[in-house]
Amino acid sequence: MIPPPWHDRLQQLAERRRSLGRDRSIQPATGVDVCSNDYLGLRRDPRLAEAAATAARVHGAGAGAARLLRGTCSLHDDLEATLAHWKGTEACLLFNTGYQANATLVPALVGRDDAVFSDALNHASLVDGCRMARAGGAQVGIFRHLDLDDLAAQLGSWRAKAPAGALALVASDAVFSMDGDAADLPALLTLCQRHDALLLIDEAHATGLLGSDGAGLAQLQGVHGRVPLVMGTLGKALGAFGAFVCCDKVLRDHLLNTSRGFIFSTALPPPVLGAALEGIRLARTEPWRRERALALANQLRDALGQPHQPSAIVPVPVGADADAIRLAQSLHALGYDVRAVRPPTVPEGSARLRITTGAHLLDAEVAALASALLQAR
Ligand SMILES: *Cc1c(COP(=O)(O)O)cnc(C)c1O
Repeated sequence: MIPPPWHDRLQQLAERRRSLGRDRSIQPATGVDVCSNDYLGLRRDPRLAEAAATAARVHGAGAGAARLLRGTCSLHDDLEATLAHWKGTEACLLFNTGYQANATLVPALVGRDDAVFSDALNHASLVDGCRMARAGGAQVGIFRHLDLDDLAAQLGSWRAKAPAGALALVASDAVFSMDGDAADLPALLTLCQRHDALLLIDEAHATGLLGSDGAGLAQLQGVHGRVPLVMGTLGKALGAFGAFVCCDKVLRDHLLNTSRGFIFSTALPPPVLGAALEGIRLARTEPWRRERALALANQLRDALGQPHQPSAIVPVPVGADADAIRLAQSLHALGYDVRAVRPPTVPEGSARLRITTGAHLLDAEVAALASALLQAR
């Protein structure tokens, strides 16, 4: 039994959430998947299941310990080498989740007097990384979404006051998870170089999907291997689970020694590693998957009158929470699994549907979804 004052407090908070229409609950998957991040349709591919089963038979179901203890098997090394090669970097370090990576690598890099500058629409995990860094005495600057003039101004005024030796980190999503738009990585790199700032790019929604070899937004924008700190996930387009940071050996060694999310967590289990390796192989050798996911997203954007974007995320702006929920329900009734995204995941008053496309969808399914959206609006 929880103590009565606690029960009363939680009850009150739940009532408040319900009265605001902000109550969240877990809904089962039904209908056509147009909301997950399985962009390449690999999550249920039998080849990933087979790779996972083989890895479990050879290396075990679990890792047994953290990486720095006895938790590392040859698949961790294989996967890190594969990712570094794919991303064009010297080294790679696996993390258990993207959330853990972002939340703990930022405070591992910036300390007292240092600064981290973060795009206003960055993923919550980077936001939490910034909060942790602030708790450690770092300055946090939030720049307006994609606004590099604002970033340059903030970097400049921070530098003018910062003590000698203080360093800056700039963090941005590559593809923004709730808007589906993309950062300008060459411009970010140039700006960061001018200020000796370290650039961290989160390629969670770009890895496997963008670029000539599916390596991500950096590859698409011609700066492959030049972003010093690239984070990505294995649980979205690659159909498995987990996350990684691609960087040089000095950075990897620092994170391995200081990032608490890496140090104090049991290593990724072998079946996940086997599936991820197979997911990367298929993402690279079956380019039709990413071409199809991106083409379907642009087909939907054309129907909705939106400009093309290098992503498979298509937001349908609604505004009020209740309207977004109603619209999602009407599409549910037509057999589409569409989810309303509400604050605090997105800013107040910007509730929306977040539609994603994947290689497994049929043209007719996307066309019918587009007309249903146009009718319902
Ligand atoms: C999903 C996501 C994460 C978190 O990754 P997990 O492995 O799911 O914890 C981090 N950043 C972005 C931009 C994401 O979309």
